[in-house]
Amino acid sequence: MKIHNGRYQLSGGLDPLDLVERYQAPLYVYDSAIIKQKYERMAAAFDVPKLQLLYACKALSNLSVLRLMRSMGAGLDTVSIQEVEMGLMAGFAPKDIVYTPNCVGMEEIAEAVELGVRINVDNISILEQFGQAFPDYPICLRINPHIMAGLNAKTSVGHIDSKFGISFHQMPLVHRVVEATGLTIEGIHMHTGSGILDAGVFLQGAEILFNIAKDFPDLSYLDFGSGFKVPYREGDAETDIEDLGTQISQRFNRFCANYGRELTLTFEPGKYLVSEAGYFLVQVNVIKQTTSTVFAGIDSGLNHLIRPMLYDAYHEISNVSRPGAKPRFYTVVGYICETDTFGVNRRINEIQEGDILAIHNAGAYCFSMASNYNSRFRPAEVLVHEGQAYLIRKRETMDDLIRSQVEAPIGVEQSEKV
Ligand SMILES: *Cc1c(COP(=O)(O)O)cnc(C)c1O
Repeated sequence: MKIHNGRYQLSGGLDPLDLVERYQAPLYVYDSAIIKQKYERMAAAFDVPKLQLLYACKALSNLSVLRLMRSMGAGLDTVSIQEVEMGLMAGFAPKDIVYTPNCVGMEEIAEAVELGVRINVDNISILEQFGQAFPDYPICLRINPHIMAGLNAKTSVGHIDSKFGISFHQMPLVHRVVEATGLTIEGIHMHTGSGILDAGVFLQGAEILFNIAKDFPDLSYLDFGSGFKVPYREGDAETDIEDLGTQISQRFNRFCANYGRELTLTFEPGKYLVSEAGYFLVQVNVIKQTTSTVFAGIDSGLNHLIRPMLYDAYHEISNVSRPGAKPRFYTVVGYICETDTFGVNRRINEIQEGDILAIHNAGAYCFSMASNYNSRFRPAEVLVHEGQAYLIRKRETMDDLIRSQVEAPIGVEQSEKV
């Protein structure tokens, strides 16, 4: 979102205030031009004969976003059978969907077999059961390379105490299970979590993966997961995707030459593709001056966007109603009956009640983590695409809140007596 002629503009010159007028706040808005630009930049960063980018759809799983990803040539990374089904609904071929569940039972995995998608196995118990039930269904192994990526304990998933993946120390046991069951291993995978900054960490994990991969003769791909860091505020460091691409590509091509076959280099970007494409537009209900703070209270809360409260994530906030106004200090808080602070002491252009604020980086893990806490409706979503704004999800209504509730016969007599 840029300021142009004294107004904030989305791509195609669309005014976020017009969108709020049409669809009301709070409103999620995604700009497809930014998603496309990120996808193309990432695809161009790697110099290998075969590359596949699988969009990790838990970041933002609206069907229209999935269709956009497919139209650009992406595959899909899924972590639940429901995400698999959404991917199929969006038109992805089963072979372009990878299912990477954690701690799900064999029943759900059997459903994935039925649907024909690629399956990533992340523990030896399931590997054994899978090998006995479906010895002819090729699978991929999720390896835990035991590297500490990023700084946030909740989003770092490849370290030694992590619940994810099969420890690379357990490969002898894996080989025994594979031989005993006759399974075919078609891919090797790792995903070390969010917030990787430099190519070094990736390469460190990659070496471990190459070392494991050379002992499996039937591979068709190696999947290096994701964890690309995106900037959240001005001056923030981000993964140098071109540097990473150059270094990984060289090493990958060398591996393939030694292995004797061209494999597909695979990544699973989520946040990288959609984070910066999203804005969450909210209205300021109340300006409240206390002895120490000026609060701007908005018509949303941790029910719609929980990252600041859950991960201490920083999201830039700007006042789109007053691009020219003088900045002042505000603590932006939600309406939930619990502390839900979006930003403390932020310099934001002077706010008046009724103004529309944009919370930035609202594409990844924002709507997809939204809930109905406090019995509030989840917001509408709009996709800005080639100069047009499309409503891609309606705001919920009272019906949505009670749709799946079944009333027990409690208090019936009493109310009848009244
Ligand atoms: C969440 C997840 C991703 C995407 O991670 P980002 O940091 O959003 O890019 C990729 N692969 C797997 C297996 C995941 O669980």
